[in-house]
Amino acid sequence: MVRLIVAAIALGLATLVGFAGYRTATFTAPPPPTEIAAPETSAYAIDTNAAADRLAQAIRFRTVSLVAETDDRTPFQQFHAWMLATYPNFHAVARRELVGELSLLYTWEGSDPAQPPIVMLAHQDVVPAPDVTRADWRTDPFIGTVRDGAVWGRGATDDKGSLVGLLEAAEFLAVQGRRPTRTIMFAFGHDEEIGGGEGAVRIAALLAERGVRAWFVIDEGMAALERHPLTGGPASMIGIAEKGGATLRVRAVAQPGHSSMPPPETAVSLLAEAVDRIHAMPIQRSLEGGPALAMMRALAPELSLTNRVAISNEWLLGPVLRQRLQSSPPAMALMGTTVAPTMMNAGVRPNVMPAEAEAMINFRLHPRDTSEDILRRARQAVAHLEGVTVEWAEPPREASGISSTTSSSYALIAALSREILPEAPVAPGLVIAGTDSRHYADVAENVYRFQPMLVAQEDLDGIHGNNERLTIDNLDRMIRFYIGLMEAGAMQQ
Ligand SMILES: [Zn+2]
Repeated sequence: MVRLIVAAIALGLATLVGFAGYRTATFTAPPPPTEIAAPETSAYAIDTNAAADRLAQAIRFRTVSLVAETDDRTPFQQFHAWMLATYPNFHAVARRELVGELSLLYTWEGSDPAQPPIVMLAHQDVVPAPDVTRADWRTDPFIGTVRDGAVWGRGATDDKGSLVGLLEAAEFLAVQGRRPTRTIMFAFGHDEEIGGGEGAVRIAALLAERGVRAWFVIDEGMAALERHPLTGGPASMIGIAEKGGATLRVRAVAQPGHSSMPPPETAVSLLAEAVDRIHAMPIQRSLEGGPALAMMRALAPELSLTNRVAISNEWLLGPVLRQRLQSSPPAMALMGTTVAPTMMNAGVRPNVMPAEAEAMINFRLHPRDTSEDILRRARQAVAHLEGVTVEWAEPPREASGISSTTSSSYALIAALSREILPEAPVAPGLVIAGTDSRHYADVAENVYRFQPMLVAQEDLDGIHGNNERLTIDNLDRMIRFYIGLMEAGAMQQ
């Protein structure tokens, strides 16, 4: 009998190991679609140094997002005039419209109206470069200089690099007399950094009104990483979804008074417990139901065997895996909604109990969660605490939908990425920040977020930080990628 049990256990284990091994071996992405061949982008005779000088010029227009009615519009208007003067051949063939006062919509009409258009996004506005940070910049952030193989200044990467890259690419094709069969649109918002309400929102509404349903939208949001955290090697990350964001206001009210004879709870103790409860409320974190699993699959060949076994057998090693991933904030952000208590405000004196205490908890919503659901669960978590109320501090921004990784447009972007950066495997990713592209969900079949540049940590640090720069190599990659995208995507017969 004992023998039988041992044999049964052994058989069970063998089956388990066998199945785990099978899962590991078969845990890969489907073969890359080859329906669209990427053009040979190295053949394009572009002058990247001249383009770098033009990007430096673009940086000199201080197009910091306008927050007040009285903010000076002149830098934007001068930037517009510069575009007109600098890219005359493109402007001669494309229709140009001003939307929401300062945003730009260009339509380069294709000869075949039956083909749904491509919409390419970039934004004109930049975040400020506060005076207190100036000493840490190697150059003045708005002087726009080319040195040490890079273009330096606020907006070099985010997002004038894309904007200039797109215009360089369009001008290159227009000069040669190339004309699209499929319509190409360029939408350059002027308020991306403050939500896109006057720019992207209006342009998308205009497109919807005109019945446009694009083949795809491409925007900033992700790039090729020199060192992907999972593999340690390069990887071209194409953003197929972006997280939402929302801030919860938690308020606790209680009897105010002197602290010498306190009731069991004060507003402060109530608030502390409420914040703790919401912080600890169960949130689903998993590879499934988002871009995480697709990313892992795409990068599977590059993973270490240990990681591959663990990730491909989440059904078996889930608890171990989750524990390992829990210590990694990027992994947690990828797999689920994040919860970050960020502000607390209560009390004026150490010996006075306040009537009210307030906290803010910032959420970054994973595509599997809606703000409605999170709010309901947060309320549930504090339902037993009398005097505690929970509400969104401002209208929440929902996570985007998830774009396809098997579409012809994804295949095209991936093929071009491989052409420009052959050393970087292509994988889908989840964008943690917000981009203008989320506003286009209803007017496009798919929305992708990818800047074809190879970035190191120091490049990423410059975005919204100090010493923002775009290497000339990356500018070169972007221009070639955009030319290739237009040529292969919109100029085929
Ligand atoms: Zn941006």
